[in-house]
Amino acid sequence: MAVGRRWLPSLVVVALLAGGIIRLAGWQGVWKPVRVSGASMATALVGEHHRLFCRDCQAICRYDAAEPPRDGRVICWNCGFVNNHTPDGPIFAGQRVLIDRFAYAWRKPNRWDVVAFATPDDPSRPAVKRIVGLPGERIEFRRGDLVADGHVVRKSLAQLRSLAVLVHDQAYQPRQEEKLPARWQSESPASRWHAAESRCDFETDGNREGFMDWLVYRHWPGYAGTAPRTRPSPILDNDSYNQQLSRRLNTVDDVLLSCWTRTPGQRGRLAYEVASRHGRCRVELRFDTREIAAFRDSHPLSRLSLPRFAFARGVLVEVALCDGQLLFGIDGHELIREAIDEGVPDSAGTAAEFENTTADSNASRPQIAVGAAGVAVTIERLQVYRDIYYLPAAIPTDALGASEPLEPNELFVIGDNVPVSHDSRHWPQPGVPIDRLLGRVWWPGSL
Ligand SMILES: [Zn+2]
Repeated sequence: MAVGRRWLPSLVVVALLAGGIIRLAGWQGVWKPVRVSGASMATALVGEHHRLFCRDCQAICRYDAAEPPRDGRVICWNCGFVNNHTPDGPIFAGQRVLIDRFAYAWRKPNRWDVVAFATPDDPSRPAVKRIVGLPGERIEFRRGDLVADGHVVRKSLAQLRSLAVLVHDQAYQPRQEEKLPARWQSESPASRWHAAESRCDFETDGNREGFMDWLVYRHWPGYAGTAPRTRPSPILDNDSYNQQLSRRLNTVDDVLLSCWTRTPGQRGRLAYEVASRHGRCRVELRFDTREIAAFRDSHPLSRLSLPRFAFARGVLVEVALCDGQLLFGIDGHELIREAIDEGVPDSAGTAAEFENTTADSNASRPQIAVGAAGVAVTIERLQVYRDIYYLPAAIPTDALGASEPLEPNELFVIGDNVPVSHDSRHWPQPGVPIDRLLGRVWWPGSL
């Protein structure tokens, strides 16, 4: 506490200085505040929208005020509850953002930056999109992946985190209907996993080398369908923000599991597993030997020593299969980034396997699982995210995006709300000249 008091005057001075600099910068026109309109960057940045709490699980559901569901019912993205009625309540204003007008005065734009620029459609109205293609690149879209110059563009764990879409949050449990199956289930009646509402506990049996006891995730589709909402489904690219839009849905292979893990961390093993068309990848934390081992379909991928994190207090674990690579991190530190597929998907990504109104019948194989052996552990705040699924301009189409390389001064931009966004995929001249950028866009969630 003494240290805190000693530093307090300095902190006050720094805060005052920072406030003054921000005010000066605003006055000099470095930052320009604007409000987002339209749905093309949802759900990271939303325009005018409605909001409600799901009557079943209490998760916040937001949807486009310009295109509300026609039947007046909002389907919950988290639990699939269909009887959320559109409110007569207020329309919430679009997200307020700051345009940093000098962001590119000293450096070039980076891929994944969110930028504001004057559009060719209407130069008087600035648009906000994300940069996905850099000068000179030839951009394509294959099975949801972004491909530049014939190579899948690979995101870091931090980049994936910044644009992934939340599709399940264990903190929001449905309560209206009794006896719904649990989203996280143990695989056998003899399992030592106990899945409670907001946490999953594993009791050690003292068997360090014994079999891995698995807790598996069952995804619920979260869209209007004829099948029960609890029927296991692959993770699809549906989006609750524009749920009145009827279109074919695609299976999303690229997923991220995020969870809080608390364990004494002195013995036994913990495992996190994610599967996709690329294979089944597992990351094992081995407390006996203090190492992390990663596998793909039982073949070793990488091995490293286990850093000293505060496992007993709890750590944030993230594991993802994304862009043909395995990603793993603890407390925000990326520890594993291992390519598992060097190839480029051969499909354009338009061959959707699932209709909006049908459910999958072949989803019994769990895509995500957490395992334990000989270790006591509590897993909390389980969240599942999906990567953005990049589509060509129109469905169906043979086009793969820009067929010609971008000019040396041009960028390819897309809105995160891929099926709705009007962007480089649609314009006769796809590229946005760098000198038409108004600046980089910042908002609280981007920091
Ligand atoms: Zn819900």
